[in-house]
Amino acid sequence: MLSKVLEKSTCAECRFCCSFKRGSLWETPLFPKETVERLKKDRNVDFVLDETEGYEYGRMSLEGEYRTEDENEETPCMFLDGSRGCVLSDEDKPFDCKIWPLRIMRDGRELVIALTPTCPAINRVPLERMKELVEEGLGDTIYDYAARHPFIIKQYREGFPVLMRRNGGS
Ligand code: SF4
Repeated sequence: MLSKVLEKSTCAECRFCCSFKRGSLWETPLFPKETVERLKKDRNVDFVLDETEGYEYGRMSLEGEYRTEDENEETPCMFLDGSRGCVLSDEDKPFDCKIWPLRIMRDGRELVIALTPTCPAINRVPLERMKELVEEGLGDTIYDYAARHPFIIKQYREGFPVLMRRNGGS
């Protein structure tokens, strides 16, 4: 979805967003319930299940993968293969991963589309170009998916540049 600004080869070489620090587990991608059930059966992966506004979802259970208590220790995503990259099909790959480093976040009564400031590649793309990309239709796609999968909405965090704002109800 970000192919207009991010080369696939750049992401394949980097994989920054496919490893998670113990202190950043909130960043792990979330999977819809039907995908969780398929992956549990097909790949024998452990998920933590939860629910938001009646929508069930799962996240990978990575807590047991760390060897120290260091908040900066990293562990790879369970679906990251050292040589092939992400092993998931397009159907199973979480929407969070498809739009990263974009995030949809709640900021008071608004839902904002914001940019994760730590992505090494996107930091080389002018912010105005990222705003254009969101305004060209990607923003609508993200708001639409979030309306049907509200569990992907994070709480807004300082330092994430906002690219688009919309009234978000409650
Ligand atoms: S699901 Fe795939 S793209 Fe997403 S973090 Fe895991 S390896 Fe990376």
